[in-house]
Amino acid sequence: MAQLISGKVISAAVKERIAAEVEALKSQGVTPGLAVIIVGTDPASQVYVGSKERTCIELGMYSEKYELPESTTNEELLALVEKLNKDDKIHGILCQLPLPRHLDEKAVIDAIDPSKDVDAFHVQNVGKIMLGDYDFLPCTPAGIMEMLKFSDIDPCGKHCVVIGRSNIVGKPMAMLMLHANATVTVCHSKTQNLKEICRNADILVAAVGRAKFVTADMVKDGAVVIDVGMNRDENGKLCGDVDFASVEPKCSAITPVPGGVGPMTIAMLMQNTLTSAKRTLK
Ligand code: NAP
Repeated sequence: MAQLISGKVISAAVKERIAAEVEALKSQGVTPGLAVIIVGTDPASQVYVGSKERTCIELGMYSEKYELPESTTNEELLALVEKLNKDDKIHGILCQLPLPRHLDEKAVIDAIDPSKDVDAFHVQNVGKIMLGDYDFLPCTPAGIMEMLKFSDIDPCGKHCVVIGRSNIVGKPMAMLMLHANATVTVCHSKTQNLKEICRNADILVAAVGRAKFVTADMVKDGAVVIDVGMNRDENGKLCGDVDFASVEPKCSAITPVPGGVGPMTIAMLMQNTLTSAKRTLK
């Protein structure tokens, strides 16, 4: 049976450490503060934002939530970001994506002060990740690296195959694996021979956004399988990009969905907010 890499268990340990550090920082007069902006009424976004706010409070941090109507203009959104950039109580600013279509996501990301960009989406932070000299790591790939470390899985010298090349998950994931000395292959919708490439992976990361896309015939015996996907199956049940039932017996370790990468993403957001707050002491 494969080792189950539980994001629930690992994120609980990470959060316990963060809560202790928050307590220590507060005694020095700094309370880490996170502002989360949500525009419109997308139900999935509301769930994510709700759990970010709850975790913030649970860890003793200061939290502000801005729920803006669908009719919000670019100017109004940018004015809010500007206000938060100048607010000393706020160390992290997160604008929940996707934004309604009439809003300019890139302009909003560009407007966030890079030192408060706890999602690490700003071009300045993306560049630093490329160079391996970073302040913040993007939360989902960072959470995956933390899970591997906690599970004593060292990517050094391994062949890591990442399916997906989004700016949020696939590309930074590939970069972090490279920094960890893995040999990395990035696959996408135009990749030929996807199955064969995946079958060569020692570590397979699926960030596709398609329910049960990775099947047993795509996985090498003994591989480590990381499932980033958050999809709904034919019965509306939350499921990953990996067909867990068929893949689990073949691999050495696997993350479940739910309870895998998801909880780690939020824990890493808290870590980034803490890192940003600590820097104000220097
Ligand atoms: P995305 O922006 O839609 O990217 C999906 C990637 O998969 C693209 O690069 C796409 O290739 C590739 N792809 C699509 N169909 C493919 C196919 N048939 N063969 C090979 N590659 C294919 O999605 P994302 O934002 O990276 O998210 C991926 C999944 O992770 C989603 O389910 C999302 O909900 C989930 N997610 C989870 C967390 C978490 O905390 N657990 C965080 C973020 C995202 P092209 O580039 O060629 O189109």
